[in-house]
Amino acid sequence: MDKINLMDLSFEETEKFIESMGEKRFRAKQIFQWIYRGVESFDEMTNISADLRERLSQNSFTGYLRIASKLVSKIDGTIKYLFELEDGNAVESVLMKYKYGYSICISTQVGCKMGCTFCASAPLGFKRNLTAGEILGQIITVQRDSGEKISNVVLMGIGEPLDNYDNVMKFLKLANDERGLGIGARHFSLSTSGIVPRIYALMKENFPLTLSISLHSTNDTDRSAIMPVNRKYSIDKLIEACKIYTKETGRRITFEYAMISGVNDSAEKAKELGRLIKGMLCHVNLIPVNNVEGTGFIRSGRKTIEKFIEVLSSYGVEATVRRELGSDISAACGQLRRSAVESGKGSGD
Ligand code: SAH
Repeated sequence: MDKINLMDLSFEETEKFIESMGEKRFRAKQIFQWIYRGVESFDEMTNISADLRERLSQNSFTGYLRIASKLVSKIDGTIKYLFELEDGNAVESVLMKYKYGYSICISTQVGCKMGCTFCASAPLGFKRNLTAGEILGQIITVQRDSGEKISNVVLMGIGEPLDNYDNVMKFLKLANDERGLGIGARHFSLSTSGIVPRIYALMKENFPLTLSISLHSTNDTDRSAIMPVNRKYSIDKLIEACKIYTKETGRRITFEYAMISGVNDSAEKAKELGRLIKGMLCHVNLIPVNNVEGTGFIRSGRKTIEKFIEVLSSYGVEATVRRELGSDISAACGQLRRSAVESGKGSGD
């Protein structure tokens, strides 16, 4: 029998699980609290009897993740974690400090199926989905390890969150639960490459997170060349879904646009983008593309980016440039796992 990850369980499921072991219900509350404090082992659960701790360790585990490596930026204190999962696979998270508090970027899958040509995760392919507990475990482990309370969560690490829909929804509900981490729904951002039917599904969940769309191009020819997902869900379909999403939820959408020199950063492309999204309840986040070995893509220069913003503003579209954090530790996601896999570690094989 596979052991149960206690981080996969909601409060009610923890109660059922503990009762099924012949224990009183109040024990579940104590154990649940220890799990969310980020205990590594059952031995830390000091108000639980040695006998019960022993029985727990036979059929379950705490979900605390093993930290395989950790890089701390000397520039801004950003911390990048590489975790090793129970089956030997590896994923990454990045802890960032902002004026308003700590934000964490987490992974939702081991690898990714989307195949975006500029992304560090694409060449490694897809291994498996993360469970809700493994997604949650990244936050709890980082909180315990760093001693900092995390207030914002971005689902922008390795993987496509909407391709692991059920586990991601379960994770969001767990992390939102007052009895657990209690992170408000509005403090989550979810980024997708554009799986249109799942955008509609998310819209119906009534979970007011911030939806980010990785757009990166303004027409189907350009977008399909760098994002294969576009061959299945075209820009028209994607933008239509976004318009309906903003109308139904009243929530502003963020469009992410990686600025790639000579590829998508001309004033002409800015006009195309302006025409495409003008009048929408949205914001554009320009990300100077991160250098990923083998892609050949180079980030746009400062002047080109400024011009791009100026053109967008003439369409009434507001754009900002993503602040770069942890540039000395290659904090862009996927890069630590990639070097671990390429050196023969963290592949789960
Ligand atoms: N699969 C999801 C979330 C993970 S990627 C998505 O596609 O949105 C998180 C963000 O980083 C996406 O906007 C993605 O397009 C972007 N990204 C990936 N590789 C990048 C690179 N080399 N430079 C800049 N942004 C990159």
